[in-house]
Amino acid sequence: MGGTVEILHLLRSGLVLTKSEITAHTGLSRSTINQRIDALLDAHLVIPSGSESTKGRPAESYAFNRTGGHLLVADIGATGMRVGLCDLAGTILEEVELSIAVTEGPDVVLGTVGKEFTQLLIGANASADSVLGIGVSVPGPVDTASGQVVHPPIMTGWDQYDIPGWFSSDYTCPVIVEKDANAMAFGEQQVSHPDVRHLLMVKVGTGVGSGLISDGRLHHGADGAAGDIGHNYVPKPDHVQDEPECRCGNIGCLEAYAGGWALLRDLQAVGVEAESVEDAVRLLRSGNRDAVRLARNASQLLGETIAVTVNLFNPQVVVIGGQLAAADDYLFAGIRSAVYRRSLPLATRRIQITGATQGQQAGIIGLALLVAQSVFASAPLPHLHTAQAADLAS
Ligand SMILES: [Zn+2]
Repeated sequence: MGGTVEILHLLRSGLVLTKSEITAHTGLSRSTINQRIDALLDAHLVIPSGSESTKGRPAESYAFNRTGGHLLVADIGATGMRVGLCDLAGTILEEVELSIAVTEGPDVVLGTVGKEFTQLLIGANASADSVLGIGVSVPGPVDTASGQVVHPPIMTGWDQYDIPGWFSSDYTCPVIVEKDANAMAFGEQQVSHPDVRHLLMVKVGTGVGSGLISDGRLHHGADGAAGDIGHNYVPKPDHVQDEPECRCGNIGCLEAYAGGWALLRDLQAVGVEAESVEDAVRLLRSGNRDAVRLARNASQLLGETIAVTVNLFNPQVVVIGGQLAAADDYLFAGIRSAVYRRSLPLATRRIQITGATQGQQAGIIGLALLVAQSVFASAPLPHLHTAQAADLAS
């Protein structure tokens, strides 16, 4: 694709460059650079950014035009969603949060997303044509190639649903669908650990999930199932009588012991009043004895599974996030002790086990940055007029 993606990649990193400097960086011929810059200027993806004097003659320099269009993102959780409008660099300009159960099904949930997208565009005085990329993250396994969720344990009615296709009547841009823990992993790495190449993000919320950044890139595996540690089998601990059933239909999964829903089940079993994961979080924060005891047991099992992952993957940083992690120091203590006990010294010598820094926004921040990266990472670049697209492809 004749260098367009390459030039845009350079400018998106924040550099402001003259054509000579672009030549030096890319090795492209001057005539190719002239053509590509013209097309990118026409597409409003690049803007002139003042002049610099080179050998006495002024030379125009160019920058990425982050305001040349919009990105739309929706971070769909089990019981609520965040929807945002972003610039082309993935910075969130406007954001709304609302309660909706993912079990309402794709028509209702995506219908709500669609309405919110429209409202955000109206609020910014922008049209659907200005949208160059859409990102949707969901609490379930996503097939990377098709953007469909596949046998999601908690997303009733979503199995194999064509999420990208739902948006095609209103938008012509690419639609990226991502598992929630992957979006969080990307956001934490980009914002808080930009120099870290190997990162494991563990989300401990209603369920347990993880996302992997391998050599600086999100690791999906062959199909998109990488990182689903919540459904790893855990050998029955002594304090448990019968192996618990999991939401996925198996028995003895990690999240059937250590997820928020399991904590809620166990609290109710000992007569503690708790209706939601939020209630369990409140009990933990107030130091409720049963909640603390159950969380300590859970943290050991989480730690043992994370230790296996550390041995397999050798991350430099392990980020623990999600609702329960934010409420629970015991979780960190248990995870740390298990990882240091069960992982090899070479893997733990430099390891950093830390909390998530983006809080409840980690998912939407990561998703926005992921869409910004994906949309401009490969040809054809989105949403250029046919003539421009032909120019760029030539
Ligand atoms: Zn399971």
